Amino acid sequence: MKRALFEDLHEDFRASFRTFLEREVMPRYMDWEREGIVPREVYAAAGRGGFLAMAVPETDGGAGADDFRLNLVIGEECHRVGVGSFSLGITLHNDICLPYFLSYCTPEQRERWLPGIVSGELITAIAMTEPGIGSDLAGMSTTARRENGHYLVNGSKTFITNGINADLVITAVKTDPKERHRGISLMVIERGMEGFERGRNLEKVGQHGQDTAELSFDDVRVPRENLMGEEGKGFLYLVSNLPQERLSIAASAVAASEAMLGWTLEYVRERTAFGQTIGSFQNSRFELAELHGEVLIARTFVDRCVQALDAGELTPEEAASAKWWCTDLQGRVADRCLQLFGGYGYMVEYPIARAWADARVTRIYGGANEIMKEIVGRSLGL
Ligand SMILES: Cc1cc2nc3c(=O)[nH]c(=O)nc-3n(C[C@H](O)[C@H](O)[C@H](O)COP(=O)(O)OP(=O)(O)OC[C@H]3O[C@@H](n4cnc5c(N)ncnc54)[C@H](O)[C@@H]3O)c2cc1C
Repeated sequence: MKRALFEDLHEDFRASFRTFLEREVMPRYMDWEREGIVPREVYAAAGRGGFLAMAVPETDGGAGADDFRLNLVIGEECHRVGVGSFSLGITLHNDICLPYFLSYCTPEQRERWLPGIVSGELITAIAMTEPGIGSDLAGMSTTARRENGHYLVNGSKTFITNGINADLVITAVKTDPKERHRGISLMVIERGMEGFERGRNLEKVGQHGQDTAELSFDDVRVPRENLMGEEGKGFLYLVSNLPQERLSIAASAVAASEAMLGWTLEYVRERTAFGQTIGSFQNSRFELAELHGEVLIARTFVDRCVQALDAGELTPEEAASAKWWCTDLQGRVADRCLQLFGGYGYMVEYPIARAWADARVTRIYGGANEIMKEIVGRSLGL
């Protein structure tokens, strides 16, 4: 089934991003996996190549390409060559953080931040989760108390993607601790602000090349000019942007699944046991036929969701459905494909092993899959 989503310009963009991956990412990727972080200069190189924040208007120093299909190409290409933990940082910057800067910043803030976000000199992160809360965001306890001309921020966040590299952290805080949802505001906390410290780079099951960190705020003086949008509207802003975040995770899950299937097909055609290829056992054919069908279905739905997003029509429920179903599928594909590799599948030098470990978190972050089902369930009037 031919995909109807892309035009020539997306294929040109794909070709140049492939070249970028081949030159700048693939030769050094295993070092980053060992070191737990992608060097900052790689973001700058991505910026020079035109692969960051493509949606920023030309008047703000960007390419003015507000087209989520370009973002999709980046995720697809990263997963195709097995550099999933590099993909997470760049998609967080492009797909998840950028929309907040585009939607809620004042002209002064845009001028201050957007050019650096495009060039990769300013790496972004979003900090919602705290040690005590994740799913129940309204229960957060990081506070921002108004003082003359600035806020005094106290609290801590954890599991923050790009946490070590980030220069601009969109931080969810309580400006009114008595309120739940209505007490939340977003503000940008910048590298170097006094009292803003990063904890250790957390050791994870997978996504090893991605820096994930704890952040702490101890009487950080954040100027009023760093508030994003209006005070008390933070939860509303988060809810408005989560469909794109969830679609981004779903699309990555499908891209990763396609890649895993491709590697497995190649492997089972070559590897032999009992005088025949592994792929010629009926079990392998059935396993791969089932997964192939499911991935095709997921791809078709996600492509349709991307069109809906670009048309401004994607609903939170559709995005939640895409997120839980595609990430569940990614887990099944990872596990069943790895099985067909036998012992080699458990060796980190094989991309399937890394993709299996990388996949586990997608059912947890971006809203746990149970929360996705709550969203869908509520929309059914339950
Ligand atoms: C690698 C990684 C990167 C991350 N990146 C970021 C980031 O950049 N920024 C950020 O803010 N956060 C980030 N997170 C945090 C992530 O979004 C949270 O871990 C996630 O939302 C779940 O929150 P929690 O861990 O507090 O789990 P909890 O809220 O404690 O939930 C634990 C489990 O309980 C169940 N559960 C919870 N609530 C319900 C319910 N209502 N109904 C049914 N079951 C329920 C679910 O199974 C859930 O997985 C990241 C996490 C990881 C692991």
